[in-house]
Amino acid sequence: MLWSGWGDPARAADLPEPVRKLLQDILGVRAPEAPPVNLEEVRLPAATLPAAVLAELESVLGAGNVRSGDEARVRHTRGKSTPDLMRMRAGDGSDAPDAVLLPGSHDEVLELLRICAAHRVAVVPFGGGTSVVGGLTPAREGHAGVVALDLARLNRLVSVDAESMVAELEPGLRGPQAEELLAAHELTLGHFPQSFEYATLGGFAAARSSGQASAGYGRFDDMVVGMTVATPRGTLDLGRAPKSAAGPDLRQVILGSEGAFGVITSLRLRVRRAPAVRIYEGWRFDSFAAGRAALRRLAQDGPLPTVLRLSDETETMIGLAKPGELGGMSSGAGCLVIAGYEGDPQEAAERRERAAAVLAGLGGTCLGAEPGESWAHGRYSAPYLRDSLLAAGATVETLETAGFWSALPRLYDAVRLALHGALGSPLVMCHISHVYGAGASLYFTVVTAQSEDPLAQWEAAKRSVNEAIVAAGGTISHHHGVGRDHRDAYAAEIGELGVEILRGIKERLDPEGVLNPGVLIP
Ligand SMILES: Cc1cc2nc3c(=O)[nH]c(=O)nc-3n(C[C@H](O)[C@H](O)[C@H](O)COP(=O)(O)OP(=O)(O)OC[C@H]3O[C@@H](n4cnc5c(N)ncnc54)[C@H](O)[C@@H]3O)c2cc1C
Repeated sequence: MLWSGWGDPARAADLPEPVRKLLQDILGVRAPEAPPVNLEEVRLPAATLPAAVLAELESVLGAGNVRSGDEARVRHTRGKSTPDLMRMRAGDGSDAPDAVLLPGSHDEVLELLRICAAHRVAVVPFGGGTSVVGGLTPAREGHAGVVALDLARLNRLVSVDAESMVAELEPGLRGPQAEELLAAHELTLGHFPQSFEYATLGGFAAARSSGQASAGYGRFDDMVVGMTVATPRGTLDLGRAPKSAAGPDLRQVILGSEGAFGVITSLRLRVRRAPAVRIYEGWRFDSFAAGRAALRRLAQDGPLPTVLRLSDETETMIGLAKPGELGGMSSGAGCLVIAGYEGDPQEAAERRERAAAVLAGLGGTCLGAEPGESWAHGRYSAPYLRDSLLAAGATVETLETAGFWSALPRLYDAVRLALHGALGSPLVMCHISHVYGAGASLYFTVVTAQSEDPLAQWEAAKRSVNEAIVAAGGTISHHHGVGRDHRDAYAAEIGELGVEILRGIKERLDPEGVLNPGVLIP
């Protein structure tokens, strides 16, 4: 993973010349003056972790699994939000951990937590490092040091219960690794977020992730039937049955806890049979409202495609435009729906036929397989463009929310208004890609020309959007989580009593407050 950007540097995407020109002409983008620094130039804070504590940690893991060199520290600094990348590109490594720990078992994690709690060393559980909400940016104050707990060595498929269709997997597995292990049993999780190639199962659970095929396979938190968690107070083993009436479900307390309550060391996950076919196709609707009505009908009355997403007019226009023709974009493209069907050939074909009848009946025009295949082909490449746009002087960031169907139009308008108010005339695109009977998520992509201080510019815009989401009755996050960036809005969402409950749980599980301090808990 590129330390200051996204993914495999060999797959970096260059901006075509017409796009550069368009950015200049329409958004007023100008190339930034300073190029990004090299890794060796990143300014790191002096490590404060006492040598005796480092030695104690090494005695548990072996020296090879404790890394305190500059490169390891840089590579475990923050996540992959646009502000994170801006800081790294500017050489600001002030949130770097003092050392990186690589435990190989649950018992080792327990022991590390015991040592860190005893010496008040902050611990940041680190999965794929793809957080976009500041989930890997701990508060250093009051701590003897900061360590990143990288779970990469916990990467096994532990067992498969084919009768129950449940697999036990370790949290450090990245998306493709987990799918490969399950494919050997002809199984799949069906969890394909855009960060799939780098994010881990532990991160999916800890941040309540949702994948692009959530209509068919569900959100990640729906897949978790059990888990083992190491805390400074000992082990939690949760989930004896898929559902239970034995009091409040403590699995739900850990899901979304973003490393603040404990370290997930094992997950029991509901799995599905690997699909024999995958069919993706495109549909056109005249307007976002018409497309939204069609998605709502499918979500409420069925049949549900496996993948279901609707782009608004702007996202459709940009998505359909070929780079060379961008200047001549017309606004008559309408709104694109991608509908995908995965599963057994006959079942998928039948579902497709019934869903197609609903979409056509509500004003959709089928565009055939090409838009669907093209979406599927490019589904993991968009994040690479962000790096090129940043380098060209444009800020690009995504943000998301969710609400009830009746509230979505207001939420959509509120977010757009806040972005325009804060940024002048940015390009704002939106899609719906996670639907439920009662509502859906809205996912926005924003592109704007960088000001003199692009970080402050974006942070002001983000504050304004957070306030707009809360005021319009949406949730502050549908699937990115809370981290540090959404903490205040989360407090507003759950109220004072809700915050007290969170603090109480934290106090019980982590009395010294060493787990991911500053993240999640207001
Ligand atoms: C380009 C891009 C695209 C993205 N697309 C999507 C998307 O489509 N859907 C989506 O849901 N999200 C998406 N995300 C956000 C991100 O990938 C998810 O939040 C993901 O769940 C994070 O997983 P990770 O392994 O990278 O976790 P990390 O970023 O390493 O950690 C996330 C949080 O979880 C904690 N944590 C990690 N592992 C554990 C563990 N084992 N135990 C306890 N706490 C732990 C960390 O301390 C941190 O607070 C995207 C991010 C990027 C950069």
